[in-house]
Amino acid sequence: MNAGPDTRMIQLVMALRRAGISDKHVLGAIERTPREQFVPQGFQDQAFENRPLPIDCGQTISQPYVVAAMTAALKVDDRCKVLEIGTGSGYQAAVLARLARRVYTVERYRTLGKEAEARFAELRLTNIVTRIGDGSLGWPEQAPFDRIIVTAAAQSRPDALLEQLKPGGVCVAPVKAGEVQTLMRYTAAEDGFLLEEALFDVRFVPLVPGAARSF
Ligand code: SAH
Repeated sequence: MNAGPDTRMIQLVMALRRAGISDKHVLGAIERTPREQFVPQGFQDQAFENRPLPIDCGQTISQPYVVAAMTAALKVDDRCKVLEIGTGSGYQAAVLARLARRVYTVERYRTLGKEAEARFAELRLTNIVTRIGDGSLGWPEQAPFDRIIVTAAAQSRPDALLEQLKPGGVCVAPVKAGEVQTLMRYTAAEDGFLLEEALFDVRFVPLVPGAARSF
């Protein structure tokens, strides 16, 4: 007999624990987010495996481990107003929505943004606000943010986004340094100092600046 979704979800959470994710809030948010609803038809049976999967428009839904580790690194709580760049499937935003006060998420492909929006409605995640546009410019009308998470790789430090961070705020972003991308964490100190930490190496699709796609 095949294992049901509940069993497979428990196995995924156990795999994340083994991989070093210990934050109970993050593991709880993963457990309450049905990843099978964020992957394309035909991939549902792989939704509980700890690996990235293809989505529309040549993009990817991140590996659960990376989603969990980035969420933990962001140090989100229920007072946080969070900005996500790169909605993709909407999975990372849905996980954040369980922990944060409100999540603003920007995607450059209309198709992906609209599909993600429909998933949020279906799951009644009413604290997510979506937008189609160039996320490399952030979301000036909604700035500043307590937390910013970038789920596409920037070529260099994302200064335009860091300007939209509140004092005391945290931003995690994959930044390309030569061949590899490093997940960076930027913490804006109250006195204006920016703490920069290199956390671990990651592999993301590129952050593509410029106008949003009409499809
Ligand atoms: N967070 C997603 C994974 C994102 S993949 C998830 O949980 O499924 C990266 C996404 O960033 C892709 O969908 C890509 O289209 C988007 N992207 C790349 N450059 C962008 C930009 N400048 N503005 C907004 N989105 C961008």
